[in-house]
Amino acid sequence: MSITIGIDLGTTNSAVAWHDGVSVEIIETSSGKTLLPSVVSIDDKDRIVVGHQAQKQIRRHMRPEYVFTNIKSHIGMPFIEGEDYGLQITNVEGERWFRGPNDLDYSPVELSAEILKTLKASAERRLGKEVTQAVIAVPAYFNNIRVEKTREAGKLAGFRKVIIRTEPELAAMAYGLDKEKMSRIAVYDLGGGTFDFVLLRAGDRRLEYLAKLGDDQLGGYLYDRAIQKWLVDAYRQDEQREISKIGLLRLAPAIEDAKKELTDFDSAEIAQVGVFFDSDLGDTLDVNYTIAREKFETLVESFTRQTVEITKRALQMANKTVRDVDEVLLVGGMTRVPSVRKAVASLFGEAKLRDRENPDLVVAKGAAIAAAIEDGRSPGRTSYNHVTAQPFGLIGKHDTVHMLVPAGTPYGQKSKVSIFHLGTAEDGQTVIPIAIVQGDSRSARECTVLARYDHKVPAGPARSEKVDIEVMVDEEGQLIVAGVDCRTGQTLRILEP
Ligand code: ADP
Ligand code: MG
Repeated sequence: MSITIGIDLGTTNSAVAWHDGVSVEIIETSSGKTLLPSVVSIDDKDRIVVGHQAQKQIRRHMRPEYVFTNIKSHIGMPFIEGEDYGLQITNVEGERWFRGPNDLDYSPVELSAEILKTLKASAERRLGKEVTQAVIAVPAYFNNIRVEKTREAGKLAGFRKVIIRTEPELAAMAYGLDKEKMSRIAVYDLGGGTFDFVLLRAGDRRLEYLAKLGDDQLGGYLYDRAIQKWLVDAYRQDEQREISKIGLLRLAPAIEDAKKELTDFDSAEIAQVGVFFDSDLGDTLDVNYTIAREKFETLVESFTRQTVEITKRALQMANKTVRDVDEVLLVGGMTRVPSVRKAVASLFGEAKLRDRENPDLVVAKGAAIAAAIEDGRSPGRTSYNHVTAQPFGLIGKHDTVHMLVPAGTPYGQKSKVSIFHLGTAEDGQTVIPIAIVQGDSRSARECTVLARYDHKVPAGPARSEKVDIEVMVDEEGQLIVAGVDCRTGQTLRILEP
C-alpha cells in the first residue's frame, strides 16, 4: 500500500502533514516546530544544512552568502541578462542557480529536493514507515515549467510518485468546503514570495476554478525589503555610512522578526550587533532602530494595493463582483498583517473572511487530506475543473507574442488555430522557426519559452511554405502543440508533455 503525505513547499516556510483517515496531524520537524524554514545552507565543511539550522548560520554570522532563501521564487525562472537577482544568483545555461563555495553552483531543484528530503525524513520518523508518495502544493499561478521542476525536486528527494495540486484548492479542502453545498469561494493567499488569488465554485464534491490570477514576485519579502530600504536610508543619514551587502544579509532575519512583531505591537526594534566591519574605522558596527507600525504601513501600502488590484481584476475576468463571493479564505502568513487583513475586509466585508485555520498550515493540511484520499484512507474523491492561469502563445515577428490559448481556458479543451503568418517570410528561407511561450506579456523576452522547433522546408519564394498550428490543453493543464506542414501534410510534434 502506498503511503502518501501532504507537503506545502513554500517560499519561506514548508510543512508536512499526515491524515490517518480520521484527522490531520502536522508533523513536527526535528527541532519540534510545525514550520520548516525553506532555507538551505552550505556550512564550513561544505555540508548541506536545512531549515532552522541553516537559518542559524545567518544569526551566527557564519558565511551568510551561502545561506539560500526564497529558493521557490527562482525555480524554473529564466535568468535575464541585466536584471539584478542579488549576489547569490548566477546564470547557468539561462537558468537561475545559487552560487555556492568552491565554484559549486546549486540548482533551485536540488535545493528544493533537500527541503523535501528533510520533510520526508520527519514524516518517516513520525510514522515509522517508509513514505513513498507526496501530494506537493504549488501556487495556482505557477507555469508548466515550474510545476515540472517541482515534480523533479520531489523525485530527486526520493518520492516514487509526486501528485501536484494547487495551493488554493488544498486550502478550500482543509476548510471542508468541497464537501458542503455549492458556494463561491475566494482564496486570498499572500505568502513570503508569491501572491495568489483564485475564485472557486466549490461544493458537492466538485471544485471548479472560475478565475486564477496572481503575481509570483509579490510577497512578504517585498515588505521586508521596504523596511530594509528605510533602515539603510536612516543609517546613511545618521551615520554617513553605507551598510554593506553582507551586513544586509545579516540583518534580514532581524527585519523579518520586526515585521512580525508589528502584527501584535505598535512598534518594533531592529537590533543587531556586529552587522558589518568598517575598514576605515577598523571596527564592527551595530545597528539599532525602532520602527513604528504606522511607518511600516505607509512603506508597504503599495504592495497591499497591488494585491487588491489583482483581486479586482480576477473578479472582473470571471464577470463577478465582490457580492457574488460567499466566503474569503485568508491563506499565507502575510494575511496576519493587520493592514493586509483590513484591505481584504474593506473589499469583501469583514463577515465573509474566514481564518479559522492557521494561515501558514492550512495548505499542508489540505495536502494531507488529498493524500489520504489518494491512498484510500479517506473516502470521497473531489473532482476538479481547472482553467489555465497564464496564456500560451507563439513568438512572432519582432519578438511579439501571438496568443494561442488565453488565460481562463478550461483544461481538456481543444482549440484549433491557423497561423497564416507562420510561414517563410523571405525568398530562399529553409527553416520556419516555431517558439511556444507561456506568460502574461506580449513581449517574448518576458515569457517562459516552453518549446523551440525548427521546421525545415525546401528553399522557395517568400510565403510559399506554411504551417498550421493545433493546440490543446490536456486534462492536467499541459499544453500540447502539433503542427501540420500545409504542403506535405507532415505532422510536427512541437510540444508534448
Ligand atoms: P510561503 O507560502 O511563501 O512559504 P507563508 O505562508 O509561510 O509563506 O508566509 C510567510 C510570510 O508571512 C513571511 O513573509 C513572514 O514574514 C510572514 N509572516 C508570518 N507570520 C507573520 C506575522 N505574525 N506577522 C507578519 N508577517 C508574518
Ligand atoms: Mg504558501
